[in-house]
Amino acid sequence: MSTKGSFFRPVIDTMEGYVPGEQPRDRRYIKLNTNENPYPPSPRVLEALRAAVGGDLRLYPDPDATELRTKAAEVYGVSADRIIAGNGSDDLLSMLFRACVETSDGDVAYPFPTYSLYDTLAKIQGVTPKRVSYPADFTLPLDALAATGARLTIVCSPNSPSGTLVPLSDVAELARRARGLVVVDEAYVDFATETALSILDECPNVLVLRTFSKSFSLAGMRVGLAFGSADVIRELGKVKDSYNLDRLSLVAARAALEDFAWMQGNVAKVRAARDELVSELSGLGLIVLPSQANFVFARTQRSDGRALYEKLREKGILVRYFATPELSAGVRITVGTPEENRALVEAIQAFDRP
Ligand SMILES: *Cc1c(COP(=O)(O)O)cnc(C)c1O
Repeated sequence: MSTKGSFFRPVIDTMEGYVPGEQPRDRRYIKLNTNENPYPPSPRVLEALRAAVGGDLRLYPDPDATELRTKAAEVYGVSADRIIAGNGSDDLLSMLFRACVETSDGDVAYPFPTYSLYDTLAKIQGVTPKRVSYPADFTLPLDALAATGARLTIVCSPNSPSGTLVPLSDVAELARRARGLVVVDEAYVDFATETALSILDECPNVLVLRTFSKSFSLAGMRVGLAFGSADVIRELGKVKDSYNLDRLSLVAARAALEDFAWMQGNVAKVRAARDELVSELSGLGLIVLPSQANFVFARTQRSDGRALYEKLREKGILVRYFATPELSAGVRITVGTPEENRALVEAIQAFDRP
C-alpha cells in the first residue's frame, strides 16, 4: 500500500481472502468440486418460487424468518425459539465469530484439517485459532480440544474434506467438558447416520448448524439454520443482519422442508452412489477415507493431489485440491450421478494404471 497506509485494518491487509471452489464459466465440466447435489431441488420448491415472484418483492422480507422457523420446528422437533436462520450456514458461522471471537487467540478452537472458512473468519476477527490436529484416522482429539478452554469450539461432522463422522458420543463428551459453546457444523449430516440434534436437550452449550445447500439441492438460494438453546439463539440474533434472508430464499427453504421426502430420495441415491464410488476407487488402488458425506477424500499411491486434480481437469472433470501440507496428497471428490462417477473412475483408470 502507499506510504500513507491502508484504508483497512492491518489483519485485512495481510490476510488472504477465502478461496471458494471454482465455478468455471469457460467450458462444461463434470463438476465434482464443491459438494453440490447432482439432482435438482423439489418441483414444489420451484413452483413456490415462481408463485413468489411478483410485486411483493418491493417489500422487505420477514426479518425473523417466522414461517421457515415454524416449519423447521415441526420437521425437526425443536421449538421455533431455538432456531435461527442464516443466509447460508456461512452467514451463521460469520455471526458466531462476530459474537464469540474477540481478541484472544484462545477464543476459537477446532480440530484440523477442516472447513477452511473457519480460518478465514478467525483472521478477520484478528485472532489465531487453536487448531488441534486430527490423527491420521480422524478420531476427535477430545482431550486437547477441551483443554483449549475456547469460548467457541467448532466440530464439523461429517468433516470436510475428510468425509469422516465424529461419533455423537464424542461430541456430547466434548460438550460436557468444554468451557464454551460447541458448534457442530452438520452441513453433510443428511448423508450420515447420526445428528447432534438429539443431544440438544442434554447439552445446552451445543449449537447445530444445517444448510440447504447440499442435501436439499439449494446451494444457489443460500439458506442455513442453527439449532440451540433459546438463550444462545437470542444472543446470536443480536449480531444478525436484520434482513439476512431474502423473500425467495425463505419461500424456497420452507417449500423444501414441506417436501422432505424429495430430499431423502436424493440422499438415498447419493449414498448408494458414494458406496459404489468408494469400492470402485479402492479397486483401482486408491486410498479412500471412510465417508459419511456426499464426497470422498482419496489419494493415489502413484501421484499427489495436484497431479490428480490437473489430469482430471484436462479430461473435463473438476475435483477439489487443497494445497496444504495435510491435504495435498489427495483430492476431495463430490459424489455425482452414477454416470458422472463412472466417467471419473474411467478417467483415473486411464492414467493411473500400475
Ligand atoms: C458447504 C458448507 C457450509 C456452507 O453452507 P452454505 O449454507 O452454503 O453457506 C458450511 N460448512 C461446511 C462444512 C460446508 O461444507
